[in-house]
Amino acid sequence: PPRSLVAPEALFGASRRNSTGFDLTDEETLARIYAARDVAIPDAMPLTVSEPRGKMQDVVNPATGERIARVMMVDAETAARAIEDARIWDAPAEERAAVLRRAADLYEAHYGPIFGILGREAGKSLADAVAELREAVDFLRYYAAEGENCSDAPRGIVGAISPWNFPLAIFTGQIAAALMAGNAVIAKPAEPTPVIAAYAIGLLHQAGVPKTALQLLPGRGSVVGTAMTSDARVAGLVFTGSTETAQTIARTMAANLAPGTPLIAETGGLNAMVVDSTALPEQAVRDIVNSAFRSAGQRCSALRCLYVQEDVAPHLIEMIKGAMDELRVGDPWDLTTDVGPVIDPGAQKEIADYIAANANRVLHRLAAPSRGYFIPPTLLKVSGINDLEREIFGPVLHVATFRGDQLDQVIAEINARGFGLTFGLHTRIDSRVQEVSDAIHVGNIYVNRNQIGAVVGSQPFGGEGLSGTGPKAGGPRYVPRFFTPAAPAASA
Ligand code: NAP
Repeated sequence: PPRSLVAPEALFGASRRNSTGFDLTDEETLARIYAARDVAIPDAMPLTVSEPRGKMQDVVNPATGERIARVMMVDAETAARAIEDARIWDAPAEERAAVLRRAADLYEAHYGPIFGILGREAGKSLADAVAELREAVDFLRYYAAEGENCSDAPRGIVGAISPWNFPLAIFTGQIAAALMAGNAVIAKPAEPTPVIAAYAIGLLHQAGVPKTALQLLPGRGSVVGTAMTSDARVAGLVFTGSTETAQTIARTMAANLAPGTPLIAETGGLNAMVVDSTALPEQAVRDIVNSAFRSAGQRCSALRCLYVQEDVAPHLIEMIKGAMDELRVGDPWDLTTDVGPVIDPGAQKEIADYIAANANRVLHRLAAPSRGYFIPPTLLKVSGINDLEREIFGPVLHVATFRGDQLDQVIAEINARGFGLTFGLHTRIDSRVQEVSDAIHVGNIYVNRNQIGAVVGSQPFGGEGLSGTGPKAGGPRYVPRFFTPAAPAASA
């Protein structure tokens, strides 16, 4: 089979395993986590650049609206100085791999503060925080294994710009791959989540990454992001975030950086799922609700537009409403909570305005706590994916119906929309699985399961079209992209 379909332990032997995580059904484990996660969050950032300057900004807990830290958002001159200070990591690949593995061990050992910060800064539930730590650790170990036998040259200074929704895993994955290729990395976290980024950078430095090879630059996208993407000394850029921001970055880079400077961009999606009349309703409903509402819908992979075959639609939609009624919205640290807050007041207002503007389409809606930035899970009726103007990054699911003879048309409609991140299919017709998988243009297809949560090493993740440039994160083509391509061999 292709390498990407092989389980990591099969590829690398017993020593190469995905992180095991924590069993949250075990009371002792839970007690250990609860005892360890109360961390005092310092305002100081581990900035290595000399004389950092900028504006102080509050970091806020989205579940309560309370300030948890006050950090410096650096200015463009500070970003330029960090680029000036940057030095490639001139150590043998085995040594870089050993340092990244040490960092993975340190991340695992510091699970308490990591869960504490992810909960308070990003509104992550404990289950989501556990999954996120696992993914971050997997990226460190997987990229170490992928890069340690490469002897190609680094590109130079690589800018890494990440989103707030996986503020540890995506932040770490970008950095680990670029470092593993020997580059110097300037890492800009998203504005709402600089504290977990700072904590991670501290662990990476402690593991042995030189400070000149890895610098943290908390700051605004419009200031620090623009400074990083318009500085001709930058030799590559790795970005995860919205499609619009990726387009802005591509324009800025084209105007300012050397032609051909690589941009790896993982962006947004309008992800669809098709449920036909042969699907198992109970299984489909569980997977629909998880895909749309888990993590408050703040996953790039989340289900946005569900297509249900007409003959089973009334029954299935009633079941979805019933399953929504069972969701508990509230404090992400409460283990019985299913849906936590959205990230900030701006996101809350944008999503609430969208729902208000589509009030005539609302089929079902839950109540949400009044304190903190919550959006109640909401189900909207649409005629198809073309009714969705844009990606709504929250717990809002759109549902459409189709006739049995319209499946090809539905797939064509989804493809024509131009996004291509995830796609889900629930059916018990084997030949349909193959036909639809061949016809749909997306990076990741999920059959008879939920459509969130890829696994590093065995399910590389990334989209096509408006959803990303590739190569897929957590897959074998990712680290090689951070090396300078080998010069063609001289002909005899
Ligand atoms: P975003 O608004 O595009 O921001 C992403 C990052 O880009 C942030 O660090 C942001 O900084 C920075 N940025 C903003 N403007 C910039 C500019 N002009 N130049 C350079 N950098 C700039 O996205 P987000 O709201 O953080 O994240 C949610 C989005 O990410 C969704 O669209 C989601 O689908 C997508 N996503 C995709 C994947 C994937 O793997 N495909 C994974 C996760 C998330 P500020 O925070 O300061 O604005």
